[in-house]
Amino acid sequence: MTATRRLLARLRNLRAHGSAPLSALVELVASELVSEVCSIYVSRPGDILELAATEGLKQEAVGHTRLRVGEGIVGLCAATGTVMNMPDAQNHPAFAYRPETGEEPFASLLAVPVRRTGRTLGVLVVQNRTPRNFTDLEVDDLETVAMLLAELLPGSGATDGSPEGLAATVPRLFKGTTLMGGIAAGPVVLLGSARPVAHFLSDDPEAEQARLDKAVDRMQRGLDDLFADVPNTGHAADVTASREVLEAYRLVANDAGWLRRVAEVIRGGMTAEAAVQRVASELHDKMRRISDAYLRERLADIEDLANRLLTTLTGHAPHETVPEGAILLARRLGPAQLLDWHARGIAAVAIEEASPSGHAAILARALGIPAIGNLRGMLDSAEEGDEAVVDGDEGQFILRPETEVKNAYARAKETRDAKYAELSTWRGRPAATADGVGLKLMLNIGLSLELPQLERTGADGIGLFRTEIAMLARGSVADVAEQAEIYARVLDEAADRPVLFRTLDLGADKMLPGTINEEENPAMGWRSLRVGLDRPALLRRQLRALLLAAGGRELSVMFPMVATAGEFRAAKALLVAEAKRIRPAPGRLRIGTMLEVPALLWQLPDLLKEVDFISVGTNDLLQFLFAADRATPSLFERYDFLSQPMLDILQQLVVAADAASVPVSVCGEAASRPLEALTIAALGIRHLSMPASAVLPIKAMFAQVDLTSFQPVLAAIRRAGGMSMRDPIATWAREHGVIS
Ligand code: PEP
Ligand code: MG
Repeated sequence: MTATRRLLARLRNLRAHGSAPLSALVELVASELVSEVCSIYVSRPGDILELAATEGLKQEAVGHTRLRVGEGIVGLCAATGTVMNMPDAQNHPAFAYRPETGEEPFASLLAVPVRRTGRTLGVLVVQNRTPRNFTDLEVDDLETVAMLLAELLPGSGATDGSPEGLAATVPRLFKGTTLMGGIAAGPVVLLGSARPVAHFLSDDPEAEQARLDKAVDRMQRGLDDLFADVPNTGHAADVTASREVLEAYRLVANDAGWLRRVAEVIRGGMTAEAAVQRVASELHDKMRRISDAYLRERLADIEDLANRLLTTLTGHAPHETVPEGAILLARRLGPAQLLDWHARGIAAVAIEEASPSGHAAILARALGIPAIGNLRGMLDSAEEGDEAVVDGDEGQFILRPETEVKNAYARAKETRDAKYAELSTWRGRPAATADGVGLKLMLNIGLSLELPQLERTGADGIGLFRTEIAMLARGSVADVAEQAEIYARVLDEAADRPVLFRTLDLGADKMLPGTINEEENPAMGWRSLRVGLDRPALLRRQLRALLLAAGGRELSVMFPMVATAGEFRAAKALLVAEAKRIRPAPGRLRIGTMLEVPALLWQLPDLLKEVDFISVGTNDLLQFLFAADRATPSLFERYDFLSQPMLDILQQLVVAADAASVPVSVCGEAASRPLEALTIAALGIRHLSMPASAVLPIKAMFAQVDLTSFQPVLAAIRRAGGMSMRDPIATWAREHGVIS
């Protein structure tokens, strides 16, 4: 029997005799791992780690020695969730000396975090006199013990009766990132909280491998069923999911790499479920260290699959029913998980590690579930059943809110719902100002899943179809036939409403997995159309797919990040050449450009001769105009769209484009904000494209505006100058009942 198997067998015996005292556990680990010290530190309320048991240090220190999370090597291990392997711990700059422990003689130290469903419950430490690095095998053994300890700790009496040893009564507010707006309040359910592994050790690796194979097979079939229930097109978007996302997920499910790692752990003497849990936890550690958002998403998919496998192997699916209006808390959330939970009726999600461009966010928006991401530390504070509020609009998560706070949110939700119901009456009406100026309000979308928004919002068409989103969701660029299918579905659903397809805008924050960008300034780097022109095969494939999808219908295509008239000309030439080859030719082919790079404004005479339309991408235009990274939250308010430079630019553009009879539209977030939309319209732009959630509010806003009387007011405000014209515009809008 290997040392690990013997250790596990002894631990199991210990556990079989009632709740294992931690003192017996440390004694056993010290003797089995032949180390002079073994200690367990447990998490206490207030981010404290307390020495709960030791073999080898002074017993008087038990219950007294305390470290803050982040303090000393033990605290660092808890804070970072990583293994600390130190040959000479006391000379490490992070070392925190605690005289009462008597640890002076011990030079080498190995600390591993004890974690369960994403929470750090404590730290397991071994120490020796000899200064040396612990071997990989020793690290592996201690991690295995930590995994078991994570299951034992809640029942050990070492954690103050609260299962995770953490304070669970005070309200906590977490600021995160909005993934999807909306408000929800309800009891918390924790993802994966009810899935403890009971059996760790097996003497029959072959039987365990067979169990694993069977479970993998069952899981694959389960996924097939789940995906089969997802209609391909559809009005029933509430129960559908993006096919693109799901296809990407299926690719990961079939990937053998991580399953090979599980098989390896099984061969080491663990049960199939313990091996899966172990690999899932390794993935988690890897994920903490990877900064590339899309690689993280792929790993999150694998973790999601590992959790599914665990459910299959342990035979108990947790949370078959969830309380009404529950809020799902997760460290990460895979696409299939979100679908599952949505079907079980959750009202909102709060995710510790999720970016707005991740799979969960894409699906949450498509499903209309309020969601917040980037909530570090949330899971360490939450308990199953805690009350919580998800405020998707403000990107905040409130755990155990005070009654008044809860009531305030209940009122805010009521108002929000009533407002929305009222707004829906605008759906069927044409967009126009009070003085009869007609407008076209269009949608910015990127997934076929979002197509039902056309009907829901009564939008006049799709003013920006971001083709790269579907590719990001699936993790790769689809081939011509697949792309053509996606685009054809968009045109089918839009029917006689116009659609402006934008070619792939990849790069910067929109990286495909495997394309790690090492540029210093990726937003201004080799991205978007620059890639398309340098790799024309990629762009040509997309253009062919668009032409095939049109199949004789009208087709409008625009190019992103155009910086010179020459770039536009080159891209247009590619499209025109492809169009000559594809039959049936589109009924009408309109070729336009995004205006996102300020340099283009000085090339308008050339450009306007060549383009059929221009769409202003205000997000990038603002970023490049003021040299202010759009992804840096602290810069959001620093430079105003409603500023003299931006309004002058729009005005000049409108005048020049009108003279050349080239239509101009505005996509980008500015079009979705009332004061900005009002100003854009007053400058003469009649086509505004925006996220679905903004269409009805903006339509309702315009109906209150007498545009003819606002135009001279705006002209006077602009003459008065100043960097931000927001205040005077807002004052006029408020006085005239346009905004409240
Ligand atoms: C923009 O830059 O305003 C725009 C619409 O494009 P994206 O947000 O996709 O960069
Ligand atoms: Mg852009």
